[in-house]
Amino acid sequence: MPVRFQAAARKAIDFAMVEMERTGDPALSSLHLLLGLLEHDAEGSMAALRLLGVNPAALQLDARRDIHLARIGELLAEIDDAPELVLERAGRISEQCGATQISDADILMAAAQDQRTWAGKLLASSGVTPPLLWGVFPEARGVLRPPGAPDPLSGMDAVEVTFPPTFAPMLPVRTGIGYDSHRFGVGGPLILGGIEIPGDIKLIGHSDADAVCHALTDAVLGGAGAGDIGELFPDTDPRNKGRNSIEMLRMACVASEKRGWRVAQVDVTVIVERPKLLPYRDAMRAALATALGLPADSVSLKAKTNEGMGWVGRGEGLACMAVATLIPIRTAT
Ligand code: MG
Repeated sequence: MPVRFQAAARKAIDFAMVEMERTGDPALSSLHLLLGLLEHDAEGSMAALRLLGVNPAALQLDARRDIHLARIGELLAEIDDAPELVLERAGRISEQCGATQISDADILMAAAQDQRTWAGKLLASSGVTPPLLWGVFPEARGVLRPPGAPDPLSGMDAVEVTFPPTFAPMLPVRTGIGYDSHRFGVGGPLILGGIEIPGDIKLIGHSDADAVCHALTDAVLGGAGAGDIGELFPDTDPRNKGRNSIEMLRMACVASEKRGWRVAQVDVTVIVERPKLLPYRDAMRAALATALGLPADSVSLKAKTNEGMGWVGRGEGLACMAVATLIPIRTAT
């Protein structure tokens, strides 16, 4: 009997094959199939993931990471990871449901079933195990059954999953940390936090030396797993000489969003003896908030001295620490 797939399942398989060719991967794997489901936001399987509190966008990033690790030989499968085996299992699940076509939910279920495959391992590490998936499977499979009606999956290894009335799928967040320091030099203005602070000192650096923006840029890039400021803006590139650091921060946000992560909130501490930053704090918060696309109350900036100790205490320069919280967004497909 020829195998027939529902449209969403077919799209996922097509995507997996195109992606394999595009990236030059030597063979199609279960991870490509999983990525296909995630890329196409296939309705049933994504509903199942969300019901289990898994964010599909975050899983998509992890699948891409694992495909990369497999490509460079740093991820070994315990068994033959051929996607045909996953699709065969999906076919059996579909038959057991009495369906005439294989759905995207069948493929997700089949991928989760064998935790010795790459996709099975990744799903298990995200908390998607077969017993849990069985619990939401009727909904994912589009099987609407009135209370008391026979379970279409009866006889299968199913468990009942109930959710409390307050259940809300958990959204994963990421955190990035950044640090920067610059030496003071003669002649103002001081550029810090995206504004100019009048006076007779400035920070010395290849760009405009805005240490607040640099620490924040690293925090954003770090949270998104997108490298660091030195990689994005190397000193050796003449375009970076005197570069506006607010622009660097914006570019870091773009790089982060391309990876599916948006900055939700940042917190910055500047360690400096002089000048006192309090009079400029709100202007810095506003400038940073504009660059980050956030309301000002999601941008915190604090300043403190180093109690006269060390190079900061001697007024040789300033240091800055930043933390960024990132939340997932859907990447364009
Ligand atoms: Mg710097």
